Amino acid sequence: MVLLSPSARSHKVDAFKVMQILEEAKSLEASGANIVHLEIGQPDLEPPEEVRQALYRAVKDGETGYTHSQGHPRLREAISKVYSEDYGTSVDPDSIVVTMGTSPALLLALGALIDPGDEVIITDPGYACYAGNVEFLGGSVSRLQLTADSGFIPDPQALRELISPKTKAFIINSPSNPTGRTIPRSTLFELISACEESGVTVISDEIYHGMSYSGAVSHSAREHSKSCFVLNGFSKMYAMPGWRLGFVIVPETYRDAIHRMQQNFFLCANNFVQWAGLAAIEIRHSFTHAMVAEYDKRRQYLVPELRRLGLGVPVDPDGAFYVLADATRFGNDSMALARHILKTTKVAVAPGIDFGSSAEGYIRFSYANSLDNLKEAVTRLSELEPL
Ligand code: PMP
Repeated sequence: MVLLSPSARSHKVDAFKVMQILEEAKSLEASGANIVHLEIGQPDLEPPEEVRQALYRAVKDGETGYTHSQGHPRLREAISKVYSEDYGTSVDPDSIVVTMGTSPALLLALGALIDPGDEVIITDPGYACYAGNVEFLGGSVSRLQLTADSGFIPDPQALRELISPKTKAFIINSPSNPTGRTIPRSTLFELISACEESGVTVISDEIYHGMSYSGAVSHSAREHSKSCFVLNGFSKMYAMPGWRLGFVIVPETYRDAIHRMQQNFFLCANNFVQWAGLAAIEIRHSFTHAMVAEYDKRRQYLVPELRRLGLGVPVDPDGAFYVLADATRFGNDSMALARHILKTTKVAVAPGIDFGSSAEGYIRFSYANSLDNLKEAVTRLSELEPL
């Protein structure tokens, strides 16, 4: 008998622990529990009705076939216009590839950049899925440690010291998941310059752009250099996570490679969803400001409440919709603690370890949930016993 087994490559991809907690919370819900979800980075807000109408209209008009593999020209032109209006930088619509969320855009960018044995620098803490994508492609990750003392902001000098002859890329994510911190413009540009000096390509994951508070501003890597990949999408700022729409801005050298991979792996993004994305961009000023103001209200409520509960928030988050809190008063094993919190308080939270070993002992809270639900979570957490 032939023994079948999954590929060695598939074993390189660890479970996404935030999704594991979500799945465990869903099972509890199925048996009647009332869960407050603070684990998943999923906006509870909705884009305006016009966006749905654009989708319905597109389906009705028969926009159900394949599109150009890079995406509808009108959507790419609209994205390009956002970069000139919001960042004052020009982006050729032909350098944009529309994807089914930011996740495929990440895979395409890494697929164009790395060969087996190459190294990619990611921050620790940093977004949980980067390492799996790199290792799946045969690369290895090298982690740039971020500390609470430096506000979880990457240090350009430390980055320079970490770059090796094998380093091909550095992934920047600002505002960051999970720290909720926005990299200041001068530091961002210095990080990019440090990479360019050594022939390292920057992949700038800008999915939380626009979601900045307390006067912080999200600057695009494109403002500084045209040789960076930029990833972005509609899941967060436009509150369209399940619609699956994103894009990658591709530097000239890699356009043909990305185009061929997109044709082979994905063919194109969903046709009618692209029309909804176009509508969302066209009316963005009518709803995104209000959304950001709402998240800011929640942030201002949650951060002091977590501190009052004995969860240390070392730096005030100023972007995205996350708070990374030191939970060592309650336990050192963050996955076990997240499960304990879920079981005993019915609040679902994300374990810090998912974001790197330097976030072990931390818990990430998402405030993409209503103020009422956040208040309920705080009431429940006030009963939390240590592990
Ligand atoms: N990058 C970061 C930093 C994220 O937090 C997420 C979603 N949690 C993604 C990329 C992927 O988002 P999507 O595929 O929904 O666009």
